Amino acid sequence: MKNTSLAPFRPHELFLISGPCSVESEAQMRQILNQTHRPTLIRGGIYKMRTSSKSFQGLGQDGIELIEKLSNEYDFNFVTEITDARQAEKLNSISSVFQVGARNMYNYELLKELTQYGKPVILKRGFSATISEWLGSAEYLADLGEENIILCERGVRSFDTKLRNMLDLGSVIYLKKNTNFKVLVDPSHSMGLTAYVTDAALAAVAAGADGLIVEVHPEPSCALSDGQQALNIEQFDNLVSKLKQLCPIFGKELRM
Ligand code: PEP
Ligand code: MN
Repeated sequence: MKNTSLAPFRPHELFLISGPCSVESEAQMRQILNQTHRPTLIRGGIYKMRTSSKSFQGLGQDGIELIEKLSNEYDFNFVTEITDARQAEKLNSISSVFQVGARNMYNYELLKELTQYGKPVILKRGFSATISEWLGSAEYLADLGEENIILCERGVRSFDTKLRNMLDLGSVIYLKKNTNFKVLVDPSHSMGLTAYVTDAALAAVAAGADGLIVEVHPEPSCALSDGQQALNIEQFDNLVSKLKQLCPIFGKELRM
């Protein structure tokens, strides 16, 4: 098995994670991995929790095998969402970090299972979870010795319907002042449209986020999930250059 361990996170770093919503094909993942400015830690959904059962559900086992194959060729770390504890062994062999999605934030048995692997866990905020409920879920991890808990603000459902979710940067400010958890922001699922993702990402840095997880697709219009909110590679490069300018203002260094 490949060594999936990730270099320790340092407090002054802004950790950038990017990649497609879903792992779709070898060609797509090669384009992602061949990007000039690509983070070491790449995201990509393999088991997707789609609102409609008719939507693309992820490549499953074929996706695992694809990532295994590419990891023999490229130097990268991988993070993917685990949707069921029965996937843990297999996903452990290809992942450096586990992601628990918004739909599973309250799945305490899944959280407990993940503490067995000694890997960082990204815990996304549930659609309508209060900060206290979110921290309650984080405690299920912490109680069983999970040392590397990364909370991810991905927007909450609100009265407003103009944007996919309401990006709660207040939670980021609150969590940084009152907890020791790392806080990641997902501007893609928060805003839901490509045009707003870069500005939301920059605002997250100003709010004190420790990192960003951004959806990137080589051809967003052909994406099998969430194409409407993906940055293409050129747009991602533009975000990277803006982050490089912004980070020093907040005493941060961009970690790719
Ligand atoms: C995702 O990151 O692909 C995802 C499904 O996000 P969330 O769980 O925040 O909806
Ligand atoms: Mn997505």
